[in-house]
Parts: sequence; structure tokens; C-alpha cells
Amino acid sequence: MLPADLPIVDHHCHLHPNGEGVGAARRFASAGGSHLMLATQNYTGSTPDTLDAYRSQFQTTLDLATTIRREVGIEVRCVMAPYPIDLIHAAPRLGLESAVDLQTAALDLAGRWVAEGLAVALGEVGLPHFPVEASLQAATERVFDHALGVARDRDCPVVVHSADLDAAGYRALAERARRAGLAAGRVVKHYARSVVPASERAEIPPSVLARRELVNEVLATPGPWFLETDFLDDPARPGAVLDLATVPRRAAAIAARGAEDTERLWVPFVRSFEQVYGWRPERPVPGGP
Ligand SMILES: [Zn+2]
Repeated sequence: MLPADLPIVDHHCHLHPNGEGVGAARRFASAGGSHLMLATQNYTGSTPDTLDAYRSQFQTTLDLATTIRREVGIEVRCVMAPYPIDLIHAAPRLGLESAVDLQTAALDLAGRWVAEGLAVALGEVGLPHFPVEASLQAATERVFDHALGVARDRDCPVVVHSADLDAAGYRALAERARRAGLAAGRVVKHYARSVVPASERAEIPPSVLARRELVNEVLATPGPWFLETDFLDDPARPGAVLDLATVPRRAAAIAARGAEDTERLWVPFVRSFEQVYGWRPERPVPGGP
């Protein structure tokens, strides 16, 4: 049995106002979910070319979070940043330097939203998960370093988009954060698809894709770590990622195995948030039904 006071949190998802949106959040809640970490995304089908376009993108995410809180009664926390791949699409249109300037300005804006309590982390930030030409690669690295600096100044975590990491990759990421003055413990590797032993992750918390075998593998390992679906809410790509009901379903299946496994669920849903975000998800959700 799932403890009545155990929050169930999906650490990374996207929802689209023109997709399933609130309905998907309702399915998450019906399956037992209580908290969503909602990451922003491009909603218009094209990459923003202006800071105002980013502002309206972030506002769309915030409005969706407000609607879900009100209509579904779960807690939604926003994660804001320009998507790292945006730079690659914007560079041919704006020129590389202007595209970099736009990304850094959008990161500064996301940082202000964190300072105002409208978002809890910068994300997704990071590097392309595919090879790009050298000058573009260098530009994405400059933008990523800027993101790490904003997180340091705003005292918040970053949610990192990158290729899947092995031990060397975790070390390199921790070193990049250290150079920027940000603690590795606040750098969350999102969409982790292999479970690297905690001793080889250089203190970087992974947000593990909630596939059954990965959840079983990470469950016994020390925290902090999170579970996520990276749900995309894109009707054009059904089944592209895990369904939004996956995390609560996995939690229920684990709880059915007995008290010892159930106890482990406090790691991804409560203790890791306390450690990385300095925030304790609570159940029942304050202000919820
Ligand atoms: Zn994502």
C-alpha cells in the first residue's frame, strides 16, 4: 500500500495547451500522482527569435501550471529556460552572436522568474545530444556556462539536457559546474537512461527515465535521484516517451511488494527534493482537494 502521506512526483514533463494538457494531469492525479515538475517548451512550432517570444513561452507554462493546480488540485512547479537546441535553429536566422545573446538574455529572464518564485529551477539547459559543427558547439557551451552562472547567482538547481552520461560524462559535467561556482549537487542530469553507481556520478543527481527496469535498478541506490517520464504531450508523436501516469503506476507496483521497497520511495519523492531543491513536497497538497 502507498502511504497516504507519500507525495508522488514526476520530476520532468512537458504539457501543451493545445495537446492533452490538463487532461493528462488529471490522468496523473487519478493514478495517484500529486506533484508535477513542468518544464517549459516551444509551443508555437518555431524557435523564439526575440526575448518577448521567450517571455510569452514562459508565461504559457506558468498559466498551464496555474490552471492544473486549480482544476486538478495537484501541485505544479515550473522549470524555465530556453531549450539548448533553440540556439542551433536560431543561429542561421539571427547570426551566431545574436543567437547567443538571445539565449543568455532568456536565461537571465528565467533567473528572474526563479528569484520571484515563479519557477524552481533553470531547465532544460545543457548541450546538444547530437554532434554539431565546432563553432556551434563552442557557442552552446558558452550558453550552458552562462546558465550555470545564473543558477549560482539565483541559488537554484539546473535541469540538464545532454547525451546519456557515463562516469566520465558525470565527472565532466561536475567539473563544468564547479568552474561556474555551482555545486554539483544542484545539477540534475535529466533523462538518465543508464543507472551509473552513485560513487561514479560525481555528486550529480540523475533524473531517471521511469522505465520499469531502470526504476528497479535505481531503487536500492542512495539518493538523491528522481523519476521522470519526460512526457511530451504531442499528439503527433504518441508513445514517443512515457505516459504521464507512469510514475504513480510504478510507485504503486513497488509499494505492492512490501514495506522495505515502499520505504525507498521517499528517496525520489521527498528526500531528494529536500536535498537538491531545498523544498519538501507534502501530501496532502496544500490547497488541494
Ligand atoms: Zn524535457
